[in-house]
Amino acid sequence: MRPENLFPLFAPVSSLRGVGPRVAPLLERVAGPRVRDVLFLAPQGLIHRHRTTVADARHGEVEALEVTIESHHPPGRQGLPWKIRAFDDTGFVNLVYFKGHGPHLQARHPAGARRIVSGRIDRESSWSTLDIVHPDYLAPVERADDVPTFEAVYPATAGLPSRVIRRFAAEALARAPELAEWQDAAWLAKNAWPTWREALQSLHNPGREADLSPAAAHRRRLAFDELLAHQLALGERRHLQRRGGGPTIDAPAGGDRAASALPFSLTGAQRRAVEAIRADIQSGERMSRLLQGDVGSGKTAVALIAMADTAEAGWQAALMAPTELLARQHFEAIEPALSHAGFRCVLLTGRHKGASRSERLEALASGEAHVAVGTHALFQDDVSFRRLGLAVIDEQHRFGVSERLRLQAKGDGTHLLAMSATPIPRTLELTVFGDLDVSRLDEKPPGRTPVETRAVPIARQPDVVARLRAAVGAGAQAFWICPLVAESEAADLAAAESRAAALMRVFGDRVGLVHGRLAPAERDATMARYLSGELSVLVATTVVEVGVDVPAATIMVIEQAERFGLAQLHQLRGRVGRGSAASSCILIYEPPLSEIARTRLDVLRRTDDGFVIAERDLELRGGGDPLGLAQSGFPAYVLADPIAHRDLIAAAADDARMVLARDPELTSPRGQALRSLRALFDWRADGEISSAG
Ligand code: ADP
Ligand code: MG
Repeated sequence: MRPENLFPLFAPVSSLRGVGPRVAPLLERVAGPRVRDVLFLAPQGLIHRHRTTVADARHGEVEALEVTIESHHPPGRQGLPWKIRAFDDTGFVNLVYFKGHGPHLQARHPAGARRIVSGRIDRESSWSTLDIVHPDYLAPVERADDVPTFEAVYPATAGLPSRVIRRFAAEALARAPELAEWQDAAWLAKNAWPTWREALQSLHNPGREADLSPAAAHRRRLAFDELLAHQLALGERRHLQRRGGGPTIDAPAGGDRAASALPFSLTGAQRRAVEAIRADIQSGERMSRLLQGDVGSGKTAVALIAMADTAEAGWQAALMAPTELLARQHFEAIEPALSHAGFRCVLLTGRHKGASRSERLEALASGEAHVAVGTHALFQDDVSFRRLGLAVIDEQHRFGVSERLRLQAKGDGTHLLAMSATPIPRTLELTVFGDLDVSRLDEKPPGRTPVETRAVPIARQPDVVARLRAAVGAGAQAFWICPLVAESEAADLAAAESRAAALMRVFGDRVGLVHGRLAPAERDATMARYLSGELSVLVATTVVEVGVDVPAATIMVIEQAERFGLAQLHQLRGRVGRGSAASSCILIYEPPLSEIARTRLDVLRRTDDGFVIAERDLELRGGGDPLGLAQSGFPAYVLADPIAHRDLIAAAADDARMVLARDPELTSPRGQALRSLRALFDWRADGEISSAG
């Protein structure tokens, strides 16, 4: 499968010269386990070894001087350095060695020898002369080329300095073969990009600061390669999945009957999502669709209709939620409509034991129950369906790929509808969910009053409590969120506990506390008391049950709001304002606010559209892990920067789609070359992609 000429790049890093048992684990930590990973390790900085004279050398800078060795000065007593005195036409310089073998230095650099020396200049340590402590280079003038004018700086680690990594990178580069061009010739010419090998050459040999920029031609080319490899892998997976086929479900009468039992009519966005799903499940191909929409955008109703269609066509559907409480809420929300449409729905969670469990299992196995709603309990081994046609995964990022696959495997070609309340900016959608079709609910159900959002400095927290007291006295319910940010979870918990205790002094036993360390049953119990109205204030770390619907809650207080990301603040705020009563969100912050934090709070005050917010959040961040996407299956790119290179994402996706449409088996000359590209990045083996087929 992997072309032979790539074998050297897939050898372990220990195959590089000088990488022994001590260095290998360090290098693996910095780059990765294979030679390829060292080849793809991008330098982060650049040292310019500026050639100058003793007189002109600048303090604190790295300079290179051409000097003549004058004399060696052994340390007078232990602990003092060995010094070499050298000079040029303009003055003297001391080369200072605290470590190293003096006699050896003397033999290698005898008096009268002419040398290029380079290192950081120190004009302050001794009174009248220039020092270089532990020069980076001391090379004979004939070998001046050994002292690079520009030197790439790599992300180093203790015991593995950048200079050593640089040597390994050079060797990895030497092992990189010339490969047949896999990029489209016209595209390459239009961008004036170098070849793959030239690009790598430039990557490791930057000649100026601009070469380190993601905008440099060689960086863009390498980024595009990586994005293209990823899009190809996603595209192939998608083809395979579709071609596998799925049940043909063409029974909209079922969904229509269920919809007619809902106390509202669908929004335009919900209707469009239903249409897209129906087109998928009627096609005979297998559906893999993601339904994206803010908290409260009405994803459940869309799932309900898809499930009712499925039941009407004689298949079963399963809806899986991450918690007991959510599963129960879903069951209560959809069971009446399903039953009105003539379908039987069962709830199955870890709570069901003994007879109640076996009854439910029996109903699913016999096909007597059309729809199952539940938790992780649904994919356990003893659960079987007579004819599972559709799996719906709510809050999909809370499940692992394997958990979802276990549920889907209970049917044959089971359609997938994944739901997510984390809005992903459109530009990034292709990289996160490139193997899924996406529907967006970008329209809120009517009748919501926008949440009034205010930012308040911490000094005014007592006012917040006083107003909360008045509101609670009038029957309101509030969330109070404490951030998880301290060095230790224990410290965060202590903070949340003391906040709860402080609020209890004001509100008595109408305060509850939920956090991640709580046993699920305890958490559910507290949430249930809050839902029932028994509790007025729910203090929570950020774990407030995703998606839980508490229509009565109208106040959201977020402590240390400046510590949260924009997307996260938006998610938290989304938990209020779900009923028709006016709601408010109070962001308590600790001044002074950074410019970015101020902008973030501002954005939040101005809009409550999750997609707009996600897009703004992306702009506000320089790079790294935008929106904490790593958790939602965001691929770990090494050469592409999803923000700096976002204009390339769509181009790579288009290119991959075009290639796969024309040459699905990759047999054309370009297809053959693309196989090398794919093998080089090895997405199948290394990257968990959001939807495995
Ligand atoms: P999500 O799962 O997307 O967070 P839900 O499906 O739980 O949102 O819906 C949130 C609330 O909005 C529910 O109470 C639901 O009954 C209501 N709802 C859904 N669709 C509509 C609609 N088209 N019109 C009015 N209310 C709706
Ligand atoms: Mg939901």
